[in-house]
Amino acid sequence: MKILAVNCGSSSLKFKMYEMPEEKVLISGLFERIGEKMSSYTIKLDNDKYSKEIELPDHKVAFEILVDELKKNKIIKKLDEIKGIGHRIVQGGDYFDKTVIADDDAVTKISELATLAPLHNKAAVTGINAAKEVIPGALETVTFDTAFHQTIEPVNYMYAVPYEWYTKYKVRKYGAHGTSHKYIASRLNALLGRTNTKLITCHIGSGASVSAIKDGICMDTSMGLTPNAGLIMGTRCGDVDTSILTYMMQKEDISPKEMDNILNKKSGLLGISGVSNDSRDIEEGIQKGNERCVLAQKMYVQKIIDYIAMYYFEMGGVDAIAFSAGVGENSIRTRIDIMEGLSVLGIVPDYEANNCRGEEKLVTTTESKVPCYVIPTDEEIMIARDNYNLAK
Ligand code: AMP
Repeated sequence: MKILAVNCGSSSLKFKMYEMPEEKVLISGLFERIGEKMSSYTIKLDNDKYSKEIELPDHKVAFEILVDELKKNKIIKKLDEIKGIGHRIVQGGDYFDKTVIADDDAVTKISELATLAPLHNKAAVTGINAAKEVIPGALETVTFDTAFHQTIEPVNYMYAVPYEWYTKYKVRKYGAHGTSHKYIASRLNALLGRTNTKLITCHIGSGASVSAIKDGICMDTSMGLTPNAGLIMGTRCGDVDTSILTYMMQKEDISPKEMDNILNKKSGLLGISGVSNDSRDIEEGIQKGNERCVLAQKMYVQKIIDYIAMYYFEMGGVDAIAFSAGVGENSIRTRIDIMEGLSVLGIVPDYEANNCRGEEKLVTTTESKVPCYVIPTDEEIMIARDNYNLAK
């Protein structure tokens, strides 16, 4: 059965097609700058990768070209061979704790939740409607970044602000990256050979979050009402003293919209270093003796250690820790900095094993009291699996 996992951004469409239940990737690709000038797409096959510049006025045209490419590359002969399309949705609020069929009710709720994730949820609805028009026979499902975190208890999801903000406006922690944390936890459980586990999963890429997962259930996560909470990220500040906001808004006459932009796009590693939002550039800056890059890396790592320590206490211990996403999978140095900072937990890094990128691997020694693993994340396969289970 052929299933498409798609992720629609406001000007992009990322896709991966699977043969299910074998979970074989048949083709993948990315449409970029949809609705803008210089739009293009890239297709990736087993032994081939090519890009084309082409006018992409909207997501519907992108889906039409996608279908043409599937036929041209002999992935499908007829449209009705595509049995399912699973969409990634950033914000599911407290409506969704699992993947559901993208019926009218679900789409209405996703649109309503656009107040919490304006760019993402609007784009997702555009994508759902475009896919329905172009591939009407496929079962469309929606998989939410927030769903896995719906098991978090009020003690961890409420903020100490006026309670009416919660009852009137649903102000609470929703988290994000849930599909990724769920995947990483399932891999850790497979590696540990049991499911009654206490896990800490670190999804650290340009966006970054840590989750505490007990017996497969999410107990807590570092992102909040929006993704700009918890860890320091590429351009997001994460946790800060909220009084800084009002103080600076007055000092420099900054509007709420501008402030939101500064905290989401000009802060984090970029804000501290003044060099870049990319860990690779920060590491290069450190090599060159750039003091602000040194500070940025120290702060970045410290925040991750703080959250791991907090979740260690929340769960009463930890059986395994995982590093995932762009930084977690690729930054040899950041993993070492984190593991060395956790020596109080009896964590002993295996420096040789840790010299790896993008592969599933144990990176602590046999003496380590807590094993740490690199787990490359795979949100698309989770979306495809959920869609397959509803479509089969
Ligand atoms: P993601 O959002 O998961 O795609 O992660 C993207 C981020 O991963 C980049 O902005 C970099 O900070 C980081 N990254 C990717 N490759 C490396 C690498 N080889 N070393 C350090 N950081 C990396």
